[in-house]
Amino acid sequence: ASRFAATREQQRSESDRQSVAFKFGGSSLLGAGRMLHAANLVRSSATTSRVAVVVSAMKGVTDELLGLARSMESGKTQRARIEAQGVVHKHLDVLRELELEENDELRVGRELELLGRDLLHEVSAARTAGRSLDSAVRDRLASFGERCCARLFAAALEKSGVPAVPVSSSDFVVTCETFQNAKPDLQETYRRGREILLPLLEDGIVPVVTGFLGTTRDGRVTTLGRNSSDYSGAIIAYVVDADELVIWTDVDGVYTANPGDSTEAMLLHELSYDEAHALATSGAKVLHAKVLPLAAENGMVVWVRNTFKPQFRGTKIGPSASQGMHRGEA
Ligand code: ADP
Ligand code: ASP
Ligand code: MG
Repeated sequence: ASRFAATREQQRSESDRQSVAFKFGGSSLLGAGRMLHAANLVRSSATTSRVAVVVSAMKGVTDELLGLARSMESGKTQRARIEAQGVVHKHLDVLRELELEENDELRVGRELELLGRDLLHEVSAARTAGRSLDSAVRDRLASFGERCCARLFAAALEKSGVPAVPVSSSDFVVTCETFQNAKPDLQETYRRGREILLPLLEDGIVPVVTGFLGTTRDGRVTTLGRNSSDYSGAIIAYVVDADELVIWTDVDGVYTANPGDSTEAMLLHELSYDEAHALATSGAKVLHAKVLPLAAENGMVVWVRNTFKPQFRGTKIGPSASQGMHRGEA
């Protein structure tokens, strides 16, 4: 009986651990130094919480992939091939700068080379000259940024002492067939996603999930729309029943206006779901418009925080801001 009790106790303490989902944007992952810095943020939280990570592509990579799709459409296949090689080399450079142990570097290098081969194959296989690309092909091309980045970030975590594996969201984020703007079937995604993610979390392994990507029922890669990896973050947070979603980005939180455009922009310390949603739908790029409805439905707290200034608290978004919009010093 006492053995049984101990097991129950252990189970309870494991399931009592807070679950959080961390989403890192493209500028937070641009290069080995930033990846290792982000990995440290995960390591700190992983000591007390179960952490699931969602990554977007390194900054600029999705644009480069869509740029090479345009080269293909205008019949510049050779140019598209060179652009594809450029994308692959960008990731191989980061891998080298991560300075992994030899075996790990070889293993991840092989994974990136295989992805690179697939990408070049896509470029060669599409017969597009002068015709617009099939939108399914465009999504496949766009998917390489997140797929490469998840592998690199999982390696950065491992190097930082955090057990981690890359997970492709196209293994479980089931969507409709509207390529480039696919809508997820959340119920099916929840069911499939838990099968993949919960065993990892229970074993203390951090899943590094690709943002942006889904799959049709018959297994074709889709994307959820530009800038949608925040939404992927909310989806993964929902799948693992996370208490919190942290959107790590390159500004101190949500402001009254784009701080890049306006010197008058004020940092908002605390927002209700509705207040933050209103900002997101009126174009605040810092939060994809689909994040807050899903977060609100599941009662998870959303934080928007600066990867480069983790000592700052960021913006907290929850059921209600205690006294309306809290403004704070920037
Ligand atoms: P990430 O790659 O981390 O997803 P994004 O570029 O998509 O980053 O979003 C962050 C950017 O959103 C900021 O650098 C800022 O320029 C812009 N932005 C626009 N409106 C706002 C706002 N109201 N508050 C904060 N950032 C905003
Ligand atoms: N990488 C994708 C994009 O550039 C998704 C994202 O960053 O949120 O649109
Ligand atoms: Mg973004």
